[in-house]
Amino acid sequence: MANTKAIIITIGDELLIGQTIDTNSAWMAQRLNEIGIDVVRRVAVGDTKEAIWNALDEELTKAEIVLITGGLGPTADDITKPLLLEYFGGKLVRNQMVENHVREIFEKRNLPVIERNLMQADVPDNCEVLFNARGTAPGMLFRKEHKLIVAMPGVPEEMKSIMVAHVLPIISSSFHSDFIVHQTILTAGLGESFLAEKIVDEESALPDYIKLAYLPHYRFVKLRLTGKGKDHERLKKEIEFHKNQLAKKLEEHVVALDDFTLEQVLGKLMTEQGKTIGIAESCTGGLIGHKLTQVVGSSKFFKGSMVCYDAAIKSSVVGVDENTILEKGVVSEEVASELAIGAMKFMKSDFGIGVTGVLGPKMEGDVPVGTVWIGVCNHDKTITQSFHFPYGRDKNKEIAADVALLQLWKLTQGKI
Ligand code: AMP
Ligand code: MG
Repeated sequence: MANTKAIIITIGDELLIGQTIDTNSAWMAQRLNEIGIDVVRRVAVGDTKEAIWNALDEELTKAEIVLITGGLGPTADDITKPLLLEYFGGKLVRNQMVENHVREIFEKRNLPVIERNLMQADVPDNCEVLFNARGTAPGMLFRKEHKLIVAMPGVPEEMKSIMVAHVLPIISSSFHSDFIVHQTILTAGLGESFLAEKIVDEESALPDYIKLAYLPHYRFVKLRLTGKGKDHERLKKEIEFHKNQLAKKLEEHVVALDDFTLEQVLGKLMTEQGKTIGIAESCTGGLIGHKLTQVVGSSKFFKGSMVCYDAAIKSSVVGVDENTILEKGVVSEEVASELAIGAMKFMKSDFGIGVTGVLGPKMEGDVPVGTVWIGVCNHDKTITQSFHFPYGRDKNKEIAADVALLQLWKLTQGKI
């Protein structure tokens, strides 16, 4: 049996001109996917009656579920509600529960309750009202010829709250689909084509209901196995088996066997071993510290990061020898190494990271753009390596931060 199909329609001129990035449909697609619903199309349309009407007409012929976000606000450009009223042929009635909720929201903020806001409580009498705990505009669920159409506000937090509280449970109980199981492996150090070569046997041994996707992101490639089946437990075991087969073949390139980021992997490792990290970063401007503090519980292993941009600060604060800077240049192996060691000493940490580089677009002295020296150390050894990143300033910065963390991870694994 084929899975139930869903289509997401996002409404708003701001989406079409690229002013707002459509994060709603990505999030919704992930949640639908988790409960075994296939999202077959994602459509964005502007705030016009004709565009929304045509999208509904067309998409309703292609899927059992149509989820809509946007255009439910209290202003004149929000036309989704009157349009749905006309499309499904109902009349507006005031919903007391929503009205009380709207009044409460404004009273709590000490704002007057005006009619324009109370109108959020007017809903078509032929829909199920989906209470919006995060805002004033409720979701609306229509059923038409065994199909389900749901309209939600565009504000991401409101949409998410309605999806989780109402829409996903209703879909799960109304449509029976195969289970979908995902497992991921985070790899580093091999481009996707080389990875594919390495695991060609394991990939061809996958049954047709388990697919392998390559998701490259600069120095990393995430491998994602996705399986569909009716027997959830068996499917989970099978995917686990294939994941282990792949990991065995990829050996030293495997960073994580779960859906973890490198920062999370490092955080877990440090926390388990009771170790800490101290950083002195120049060209990454604090980004390495930012990445590590994204990890829940980072205070256990992250001592701090000194953003030492100016050469004088590298010396006076981190303790890099002024002569090293004069003789070797500020972007050099020696400075990266002294930054890492200086950070480790200053922070009294078990590991140190030091980064210095030229991100561009202009050259600095005779150091080519994109050159970054990264030093990582513990109390036994210091490893310093140079890298050449070919992208623009932003991307180079991002990659430099990732590679610095990767170098530290390699040091902890004895891989460098
Ligand atoms: P609306 O329900 O159309 O009044 O949308 C309210 C706000 O939600 C808009 O101003 C956008 O900033 C945001 N928004 C709308 N649609 C999306 C979307 N698809 N993804 C992310 N944000 C959105
Ligand atoms: Mg809008």
